Amino acid sequence: MFVDRDGTLIEESGYLSDLSRVTFYPFSVDAVRQLNLGGFAVVVITNQSGVARGIVPESFVAVAHRHIAERMAAGGAHIDAFYYCPHHPDGTIAALRKTCDCRKPLPGLLTRAAADLELDLSRSFMVGDRMQDLEAGRAAGTKTVLVRTGYGAAEERAQRTGVGPEATADNLAGAAARVLQTRG
Ligand SMILES: [Mg+2]
Ligand SMILES: [Zn+2]
Repeated sequence: MFVDRDGTLIEESGYLSDLSRVTFYPFSVDAVRQLNLGGFAVVVITNQSGVARGIVPESFVAVAHRHIAERMAAGGAHIDAFYYCPHHPDGTIAALRKTCDCRKPLPGLLTRAAADLELDLSRSFMVGDRMQDLEAGRAAGTKTVLVRTGYGAAEERAQRTGVGPEATADNLAGAAARVLQTRG
């Protein structure tokens, strides 16, 4: 299962550049542990345009992900990998200022992760709080689940007609339960 980071796995708090602002939802560790037990790879897929914008040091992204991994491990949970996009077309850091193929809603991070970890995208899910998460999942060929945490409740209200997510859940725990059901 592919999981968005901010607003899905941890609380949305703008450009995250300080560990003191990493706030776990109370259900996140257990949700990941349940997915582990169910045999799902859990892969974090996150846009970090703050790196291109010079707001978030790229080294901090690794620090934050190590912190998340340690918190998960302390609760018996495991994230298989973290993939992030540091780019943005309006970035201030020249090397990262570009239109890339990995910034959600484009599917580049998912397809790269699937190749690296040998995951079957058609049997995978992308879970996130924004339409761009679901669009990335759909473009990669996964099923999609919208969570109502982060921007999710507002996204649900704003949802225009057309193709919505396969499912909507209150939070990551609900999304994990739905995903685990599919593999009864
Ligand atoms: Mg998010
Ligand atoms: Zn990118």
